[in-house]
Amino acid sequence: MAYSLLPTPFLACRMAAAAAALACLTAAPHAQAQPAYPAKPVRLIVPFAAGGTTDIIARVVATGAGAALGQPMVVDNKGGAGGALGAQELARQAADGHTLGMATVSTTAAGPAINPRIGYDPLADFTPIINIAATPNVIAVHPGFGVRDYKAFVQLLKTQPGKHSYATAGTGSIGHMQMELFKSLSGAFITHIPYRGSGPALNDTVAGQVPIVFDNLPSALPFIQSGRLVPIVVAAPQRLPQLPGVPTFKEVGLEPVNRMAYYGIVGPKGLPKAVVDKVAAAVRQAADKPDAKKRIEDTGSQLILNTPEQFSAQIRAEFDVYKRVVDTQRLTLE
Ligand code: GLU
Repeated sequence: MAYSLLPTPFLACRMAAAAAALACLTAAPHAQAQPAYPAKPVRLIVPFAAGGTTDIIARVVATGAGAALGQPMVVDNKGGAGGALGAQELARQAADGHTLGMATVSTTAAGPAINPRIGYDPLADFTPIINIAATPNVIAVHPGFGVRDYKAFVQLLKTQPGKHSYATAGTGSIGHMQMELFKSLSGAFITHIPYRGSGPALNDTVAGQVPIVFDNLPSALPFIQSGRLVPIVVAAPQRLPQLPGVPTFKEVGLEPVNRMAYYGIVGPKGLPKAVVDKVAAAVRQAADKPDAKKRIEDTGSQLILNTPEQFSAQIRAEFDVYKRVVDTQRLTLE
C-alpha cells in the first residue's frame, strides 16, 4: 500500500476556497485510501543478538528517528545464521515502511557472497535507505591467551595449528569471512565458532570459553578498555586514537583484510520513494544530533549518512568485493 506523506488533503480541502471545492471532493476518496506514513510504530529488525554493533547503532538512532517520524521505532533482535534469519524475515514483509531492518556488510555482502543459498538477493530484495556508520574491526584475545601483539599472535597460531578457535557474530558474517581471509593469507589455522551475534560471541570470549574474537570495534571496545580483551590488530584506514598501539591489517601486510564494516537501514523491495525519503531524513536528523554523533564517533567509527542511491551503490560494490574474495581464496562455508 502507498502512503501519503502530506497532511491529509481532505483537511486542507476544508480550508480551500469554494472554487476549489469540487476538485477536493473528487480527490478525497483517493486520499482517504492513503493514510499518512507512519500510521503505527515502525519495527526495526536487527539481524543480530543484543550487545553487538548492529544493535548498538540501531539503538543510537531508533529513539530519535521515531520522534522525527511521529511514531516509535521499535528495535526487534532476530539473530541467527550470520544475520540471514533477520534479513530473510525483512525480505518477506510488506513494503509499507512499517517494518525496516538494519543492513550490514555481513547481511548484504559477506554472507550472500559466501553463501549463494542464503535465501535472499542482497541487491534485489531490499530498498536501501541510508548507511549510518562505518566501523573498524578488530581481532582481540582473552588476556589469559598469553599474547599481546600481532607477531606473537601469528607465531603462536602457526606453532599450534588447529589447537585454537575464534568466535564471530555468525557463519558468513564479516568476522568469519575476514578471519578466513586472514588464515588464508597468513598461513595460520584456527577453528570457527559462530554465535547469534557479537554480543554472545564477546561474552564467551571474555569468559574464557573461546580465546579469540573477530569483532566490530563499537561492541568490543568497552571490553578492551576495561582490560578484559587484548586488541591484536584492527581493520581501519589508519591507527585509531582509541588504540594508538595497535597496528592496522595494512601495516602487518594484510591489506585485503583491512576493510571496515557498515551499518545502514533498508526496507523490503519496492518501498515507495516518499517513505524512503521520510525515513532517511528522520534517521539523518537523529544520528546527526551531537550526543548520537559522539556515541558513534567515540567508538572509532565514522558517521556516513549517505543518500539511498549512494547506499545502494555501496552495497553492490561491497558485494562484488566479497564475491571476488570468495572466488580468489576459494572460501567455503565448510
Ligand atoms: N559483525 C556483524 C556485521 O558487521 C555485526 C555483528 C553484530 O552486530 O552482532 O555485520
